[in-house]
Amino acid sequence: MISAHALELAQTLVRMNTVSHHSNLELIHFIRDHLAKLGVKSRLTFNADKTKANLFATLGEGKSAGVILSGHTDTVPWDGQDWTMDPLSALVKEGNLYGRGSADMKAFIGIAVSHAEQFLNSEAPFAIHLAFSYDEEVGCFGVKELIADLRDASIKPLACIVGEPTSMIPAIAHKGVYRYKCCVRGKEAHSSLTPHSVNAIEMAARVVGRVRDMAEDFEKNEPRFEGFDVPFSTSSVGQFHGGIADNVVPRDAEFRYEFRDLPTANAAQMQSEVVAYAKSLEPAMKKVAPAAGFEFETICEIPSFLGSKDDPVTRLAQELSGEKGTTLVAFGTEAGLFKNAGISTVVCGPGSIQQAHQPDEYVSLEQLGRCEAFMQGLARTRTLG
Ligand SMILES: [Zn+2]
Repeated sequence: MISAHALELAQTLVRMNTVSHHSNLELIHFIRDHLAKLGVKSRLTFNADKTKANLFATLGEGKSAGVILSGHTDTVPWDGQDWTMDPLSALVKEGNLYGRGSADMKAFIGIAVSHAEQFLNSEAPFAIHLAFSYDEEVGCFGVKELIADLRDASIKPLACIVGEPTSMIPAIAHKGVYRYKCCVRGKEAHSSLTPHSVNAIEMAARVVGRVRDMAEDFEKNEPRFEGFDVPFSTSSVGQFHGGIADNVVPRDAEFRYEFRDLPTANAAQMQSEVVAYAKSLEPAMKKVAPAAGFEFETICEIPSFLGSKDDPVTRLAQELSGEKGTTLVAFGTEAGLFKNAGISTVVCGPGSIQQAHQPDEYVSLEQLGRCEAFMQGLARTRTLG
């Protein structure tokens, strides 16, 4: 069972509205002040307009490199969802804590913070770091700033536990999520005069076709990564807009697409292939209209994550959670970014992704109790690996 203190902290965080397009400063300041009372200084890194911040704090300053407990503070919105309660109520009912962000992933953050004093007083030779980010749900933007700040300050943590909801089973891999927007500029004309025009929709459609061909190629030819629901990389066009009337050759079209690449694949290469194909269409377009062409914009780039069963941090997470196995997850997290920064990483946190982003999101108190036991075990841990 979870302690009253830890549950209360988790509830306090759920009650703060930190939907990604809002400021998260209320929550960040709350945690900063909570840690300050224990004599712990927090490093804050802000977004460009200073409305959102990451928080990084070290419990056990002066000890050797330690373990990061990582969580994102933002949540997805609930507009149009059918909730039977106020999403900010943090209601405890029938063995569950309800609310937006309860599973994804404020309970983990609350329980981590509620153990700050134990981490501080721990006799472990390594420190515990808290790393709480903004704008994870919209593309892992905040944590990139946080990791850059650690690099600039020469802070080199040894390991990282990302507390996304995995039902407390250590997860050692997920795919990447790479999203792009492509704007096509053509040249309009009366539709009876097509040779004097560049049809933006038709040019866009050729590139869309290429994205589809790539998807079929992944399915047919890519070496499988067993354990994922879909054991190969995928690509998909999610939106397409263009055209104003039946008798006007469209000047503009735009579409958005994504790659979800296996940890063993290379999303950058996939995107280069699409761009190169689009560029190969441009000379013919420019002959009719010099301004015609393609422009690509990155929406988000969340790298895939590949840890290992043999990483000390995976074994530590197994020990602390009492789980013998490991799992793979279908969703993107900040884990790949920590891993790519040279920090061995595992994903392990309370609750299930099934309840995340859903109406009446919840996490069970049983899961929260297991997460608390995990934190207490971490405070008692003496060696890493
Ligand atoms: Zn999450």
